[in-house]
Amino acid sequence: MDSERFERVMAVMRREVPDRVPWAIWGHFPAVDWLGRYSWEKSTRDGEESAMAHMALLRELDYKMDLLKVTPYYRFMAMQWGSRFDFRGNEENAPTISTAVEETEDWEKLWVLDPRKELREFVRCNEILARDLRRMPFIYTIPSPIIQAINGVGTPERVMEDMVKSPDALRRGLEVITETTIEFASACIEAGATGIFYGIGGGGRIWRELTKEQLEEYALSYDRRVLESTDCPIKLMHICSTPQGNPQDKNLMEGGWFREYPVDCINWDAHEYTWLDKTKEIYSGSFAICGGLNRNITLRTGSPDQVEVEVKRAIEEAGEGGGFMLGPGCTVHQDMPRENYNAVGRAVLKYGQYRR
Ligand SMILES: [Zn+2]
Repeated sequence: MDSERFERVMAVMRREVPDRVPWAIWGHFPAVDWLGRYSWEKSTRDGEESAMAHMALLRELDYKMDLLKVTPYYRFMAMQWGSRFDFRGNEENAPTISTAVEETEDWEKLWVLDPRKELREFVRCNEILARDLRRMPFIYTIPSPIIQAINGVGTPERVMEDMVKSPDALRRGLEVITETTIEFASACIEAGATGIFYGIGGGGRIWRELTKEQLEEYALSYDRRVLESTDCPIKLMHICSTPQGNPQDKNLMEGGWFREYPVDCINWDAHEYTWLDKTKEIYSGSFAICGGLNRNITLRTGSPDQVEVEVKRAIEEAGEGGGFMLGPGCTVHQDMPRENYNAVGRAVLKYGQYRR
């Protein structure tokens, strides 16, 4: 891709120093209050709705992001297997009505979803963005198989029980989810996505309840297969609900466990638990890092001046030597004001020089 933004982001991925710090903000854009004309529910069955909402948000800003992270409803695969969620108003949170896997034997009912059939609309979103954005790199969200199993295909209770009582049945389910995820991720890249945003850990429950051995067997081994099967310039991993420790290892994040992941860059939520400088110290030998913006406080309810202070601080504390990109942790809230998106863009132009 021939564009300054692409070069800037790629320099960060290589842990080098680009001309300035790149930035991106991600959220459930079809649900964003001030866009007001897109449907979050419709975007789960219409790739054009999703693509148009993402481009509309970019157009409404006074500053250009360097990378677009496309965020579908993260249970979109579960929906194809029959799980149902309650979309109300244009609320970004859609509670579970029922899941495809209720009983242990239901893992057998899953089949590998076809990117040309059941997942066609999600691939089409990538095609439309590749066609219309042209010079802006974009990455599509790919949820980790174990997280899909826990949050949407099945339930936390089902997975935790099967891990102990029926591990073979659970493994057969994870196998199908993994195959589906591999095929889908490749289809997104083929459709023109620059890379993937690999999300792991929704809700944080796996960090609290799984032992390190279980994490290696049920998370890492399947994650690795997806990541190694996907050939693309940007693999950005999102560690959701940062582990503050599980019973076996109080220091999963700070002990460097995530080095096992074959990705280019890591992003995590929340930064309060492990701040940027600490993460850079632990992981900069393996990954670029992305973060620094507080989605719950500063971005959502802070003033543009407070946003500016936060941007400045993040760049001061993590920018040295390159390999750093500015972003939130998890998705920003649908009611984050437009002024604060603009405040981030403005502050990056002002303070975005790396110290060498
Ligand atoms: Zn998250």
